Amino acid sequence: MKQKDFEVIIIGGSYSGLSASMSLGRSLRQVLVIDSGLPCNRQTPHSHNFITQDGEKPAVISAKAKLQVDLYKTVHFYNDLAVKAIKKGNGFEVSTESGEVFISRKILFASGVKDLLPEIRGFADCWGISVLHCPYCHGYEVKNEKTAIIANGEMAFEYAKLISNWTKDLRLCTNGKSALTLEQTEILQKKGISIFEEEIDSFEHNDGYVSNIVFKNQEKVEVKAIYARPPFEQHCSLPIDLGCDVNEQGLLKVDAMQKTNIPGIYASGDCTTQMRSVAIAVSTGSFAGAVINKDLIDEDF
Ligand SMILES: Cc1cc2nc3c(=O)[nH]c(=O)nc-3n(C[C@H](O)[C@H](O)[C@H](O)COP(=O)(O)OP(=O)(O)OC[C@H]3O[C@@H](n4cnc5c(N)ncnc54)[C@H](O)[C@@H]3O)c2cc1C
Repeated sequence: MKQKDFEVIIIGGSYSGLSASMSLGRSLRQVLVIDSGLPCNRQTPHSHNFITQDGEKPAVISAKAKLQVDLYKTVHFYNDLAVKAIKKGNGFEVSTESGEVFISRKILFASGVKDLLPEIRGFADCWGISVLHCPYCHGYEVKNEKTAIIANGEMAFEYAKLISNWTKDLRLCTNGKSALTLEQTEILQKKGISIFEEEIDSFEHNDGYVSNIVFKNQEKVEVKAIYARPPFEQHCSLPIDLGCDVNEQGLLKVDAMQKTNIPGIYASGDCTTQMRSVAIAVSTGSFAGAVINKDLIDEDF
């Protein structure tokens, strides 16, 4: 890639990064979008709850977005992994795995998070297909179906309460000794939600569509859908290397303008929020793009 010097480098070219790049391209800004091509929803067959694209394949949504952004000639794309970022003069220098070095005045991290899937056999195969993270994205498609929640403690109680909106055919697997209070256990049992404490061995499934949860004692429970919220980490550690603060959940801390605590560094999308959805990634990316443009105008006018 010939051009090395940009006004803005966006690390992450999925929904949030693409949305920001559209705001910036329409603001005539020289932008480089560096993307390693691993969005978190890549295994999901259909994405829901984003108007105009409800039920579309996740990769089709981003491909359409990229085609539209590509019309803005000041926006450039580079498929690579950003591996180093340092403060340099009034801006930043970003190096990629293939050895390219780019500079910019501002950086936007739209780099998402990486879900750390548990070692349960079959979990990774079913992730995003029948093992679901969010009822707003996928609950409608499995409404009233035999469903399990894998969670424990306070989070399990709240999750069970939430999911009972979509199905009453619900069981809770704590995958080890229950940490629910007696009161929570009684409430769940009154609602007909049975609790399984046995550790989980594996999921039986057909191409990611789960049919049974198999416990370590070989007992099985038939289900059509499973909800789980695995832990996650930042997909890209560069903002942390640059000194950006994270909150207790490991998300980048941003203010209402999508600015991190480090001047010149902004963040949007999943790397900043627990409200993980394409709509929110697009919205915060679009806003971050406008804020960065305004900051550049204020500096130069
Ligand atoms: C299984 C699953 C199913 C989902 N289903 C839905 C749904 O149906 N509807 C919905 O609205 N939401 C859904 N979501 C949530 C939605 O996918 C996310 O909110 C959305 O993808 C966030 O967009 P993002 O751009 O912030 O991050 P991502 O889409 O995760 O993209 C981050 C991008 O940054 C790149 N990147 C990271 N680090 C680097 C680096 N160092 N250098 C270069 N590139 C880098 C990655 O490769 C990736 O392309 C789902 C999520 C999951 C996990």
